[in-house]
Amino acid sequence: MKYPNHLLQIIDVLKFFPGVGGKTAERYAFDLLEWSPSHLERLTQAIKEIPNKLKSCSECSALISETDCPYCTEERQSTGNICVIASKRDLFSIEQTGEYDGLYHVLGGLLSPLEGIGPEAIALQLLRDRILNYRLSEVVIALDSTLEGDATALYIKEELSDLSVNFSRIAFGVPMGSSLDYVDGGTLARAFSGRRQF
Ligand SMILES: [Zn+2]
Repeated sequence: MKYPNHLLQIIDVLKFFPGVGGKTAERYAFDLLEWSPSHLERLTQAIKEIPNKLKSCSECSALISETDCPYCTEERQSTGNICVIASKRDLFSIEQTGEYDGLYHVLGGLLSPLEGIGPEAIALQLLRDRILNYRLSEVVIALDSTLEGDATALYIKEELSDLSVNFSRIAFGVPMGSSLDYVDGGTLARAFSGRRQF
């Protein structure tokens, strides 16, 4: 049995998705073959426009669709708070809780010695500059409650220990070993209002 070449190409691309192995990719590929040309066109258009329509804020790295970042406003600066998160997606989970109105800083990853992600991969210079420029008073660390999240939180605190800023970490209600992805909105909201200095 040999699939036609183009089908093999589609299967290869689908395997780029996290958690999608050969069998799942085959299933999705065969499903796509049943789609109407107009649905296929919508899918390709939407994907093609990603680089033009979705941008990263040059300051906080949030995912934005316009040039002015809605998360880097003067109003948010004036709260004195900056929330450090691992991924762009976490920002939306936190915004949904309605418990936080300060600035954000997307790290883009967590320290992971096992995966070879060392401190050099996590640039803290921009975070340092923002804390100083806006005279911020609190760094709220909202990282996963995992080994990597803990290591990264400690690293940030140590690296920025010379600044006169308080560090707090959301912990209340976030179960040990859990990722923000899997925490429901209510739990995350309680985690924010119950954040503690660390
Ligand atoms: Zn921004």
